[in-house]
Amino acid sequence: MFIRHAQNEKITTISHVAASLVHEVRNPLTAVKGFLKLIKEAPDDLPKVEQYITICLDEVKRTEAILSDYLSISKPLSERHERIDLSAQITTIHDVMFPFATMNNVELEVQAPQTPVLIMANPDEIKQVLVNFIKNAVEACSHSAQGKVTLLLKTEESQAILEIKDNGIGMSEKEMSRLGSIYFSTKSSGTRLGLTYSYNAIHVMGGKVAVNSIPRIGTTFTISFPMKFESP
Ligand code: ADP
Ligand code: MG
Repeated sequence: MFIRHAQNEKITTISHVAASLVHEVRNPLTAVKGFLKLIKEAPDDLPKVEQYITICLDEVKRTEAILSDYLSISKPLSERHERIDLSAQITTIHDVMFPFATMNNVELEVQAPQTPVLIMANPDEIKQVLVNFIKNAVEACSHSAQGKVTLLLKTEESQAILEIKDNGIGMSEKEMSRLGSIYFSTKSSGTRLGLTYSYNAIHVMGGKVAVNSIPRIGTTFTISFPMKFESP
């Protein structure tokens, strides 16, 4: 009886995820199909053809982003954690995300201690989590004239504390209360899974997330992890 119920729940979740995935991938596919038809009808109108190809490429890129986000939530989170220097990770992530920030006209700054800040985490998952938060922060600032995202890493007692601060659009109380719930998004082209994945991964790694936001002023996410002091 219980197993049947659990199986039913699983099937309902799978159908829900499949339906959303189909819905999200179908939109860009429909756009690509439409623009390819237009190209076929007027292949000699070169400026138009070029414009349509650019749109098609953007839509294909969006499809790839959707698929990779779905893939990341469908993979079970690893229980095997290793000692990681968060300070070094953040510097690497800065380099990875710098082109994205620059492309959106947003300054990306890192303030981290020179000394290692050791935590127990899965390296791939922590990278994905940082990318998701920074991406959101940059997107939140992308319309401001002087957008700025700051990653501030500090230690307090036995905690490693990472603040991801932006001066972007901010959030209302209601939006903040919905953060991390599946498919919550205020973006027209978001994949809507970044924070669902990140909140879950941080929780499994023994960390905590807090958020502070004021509409039109900006947002600060504060992620804390217990530090690991012992040698391996
Ligand atoms: P997506 O980015 O695809 O919309 P996420 O799960 O990454 O999905 O984020 C969910 C929602 O949380 C966003 O659509 C946005 O409304 C809100 N959000 C997250 N980070 C920020 C931020 N730094 N500033 C303002 N809103 C944010
Ligand atoms: Mg996102």
